[in-house]
Amino acid sequence: MNTYDVSIVGAGIVGCAIARELLCRRRVAPTRILILEQHERPGEETSGRNSGVLHSGIHEPPFSLKERLAREGCQLATTYALEHNVPMLRAGMIIAISMEDVRRGLWRDISMLRRLWFNAWRTKTRVRFMTPSAIRTCEPSLHACCGIAIPSVSVIDSQAFVQSLKTDSELTGAEFAFNNRVIGVEEAAGSYLVSTDRQRIRTACLINAAGLYADEIAALGMSHRKYVISPVRGEYYELVTPEKRSLIGRPVYPALPGQSTGKGIHFSPRPNGRLYLGPNEMLITDKADYTSRKTPPGLFIEALQKFLPSLDERDLRWAYSGIRPRVVTKSRSKSDFIISVDREDPLLINLIGIESPGLSAALALARYVCDLPSLRRRFISA
Ligand SMILES: Cc1cc2nc3c(=O)[nH]c(=O)nc-3n(C[C@H](O)[C@H](O)[C@H](O)COP(=O)(O)OP(=O)(O)OC[C@H]3O[C@@H](n4cnc5c(N)ncnc54)[C@H](O)[C@@H]3O)c2cc1C
Repeated sequence: MNTYDVSIVGAGIVGCAIARELLCRRRVAPTRILILEQHERPGEETSGRNSGVLHSGIHEPPFSLKERLAREGCQLATTYALEHNVPMLRAGMIIAISMEDVRRGLWRDISMLRRLWFNAWRTKTRVRFMTPSAIRTCEPSLHACCGIAIPSVSVIDSQAFVQSLKTDSELTGAEFAFNNRVIGVEEAAGSYLVSTDRQRIRTACLINAAGLYADEIAALGMSHRKYVISPVRGEYYELVTPEKRSLIGRPVYPALPGQSTGKGIHFSPRPNGRLYLGPNEMLITDKADYTSRKTPPGLFIEALQKFLPSLDERDLRWAYSGIRPRVVTKSRSKSDFIISVDREDPLLINLIGIESPGLSAALALARYVCDLPSLRRRFISA
């Protein structure tokens, strides 16, 4: 049986980022690190099925983990992408208020924008108020009466990002075991025996970065269920009409109330020049259900036609969906990322509810995990 110092469940963006950070900082050399992944490639689940936006964090409650890690992670990811040639669209983001929304209730919409503005001010994030003429200058086809621009936001090719982190980790010594689904975790003599559908390994520390299935892996490691993840699907349509796909050049989001669970259906351009609309929020029961009962395009038209009146159902083609690992809380309030040392000996670190802005936060989140005293003490140099 192979023995490792640290084993990570999940080769999504978070698992790959943690492996890379641990290897950069390791004290005990050689630290043996294994990443167990059920699919044959990294980033096959949520990390490869999102909008790719490197968020500034201003949509999140100031100084929450989501806000702090997105703010720091967005900068780290931008630098990383430039250094590693990961494709990126560097055009900033606009949060806009449409003429139509204003006609329906000016104060409600202005107060939403003010909340985001205030969040930006509290966290020292640079934003710019946009008048109708400023909006026309940078997005001539966008029908909006005002908005705020966040220049630091970029869109990254999320699959290339995960792949690059995986390659980095591998080059510095991490082992990846693909097509290995973790099915059992037992404790034995101060370590964990982890069973997959292919092998059994021994590890001194287990880091659970299993995304949608992190609640199930946590339950295996603790022998009771502490977390419950509810899957929420987000679907995308692609705008395929050639003369319309270049009409919007940067992410354009609506201004939504603070209590909204998501950031709203938006225009989602990508570094490869394609333009998508989405994602919506659809409660599902099966964590692997990406396609049943697809939402018809009308909902997406309804959400965004106010910004682009020429948008028509015939312009859209179903593209893909991703599934958010939403934590079920007693209060049903919006939850923060949970990064929890749930057992000290042997060490078990659970990462639960890493939904948006998890892609933006990944590199900062990896630093946060490696700064946890329990991990530092054992494997990391000061
Ligand atoms: C529709 C949508 C849009 C989004 N847009 C954005 C955005 O624009 N910007 C942003 O910052 N964030 C966004 N996010 C959030 C972001 O994608 C996630 O926060 C991030 O990808 C989470 O990464 P992860 O590594 O934790 O999870 P995952 O990518 O899900 O990785 C977990 C891995 O664990 C593996 N695994 C699970 N169980 C087992 C097991 N038993 N054995 C072995 N392996 C296992 C899975 O196969 C998977 O590869 C979006 C999410 C969705 C759904």
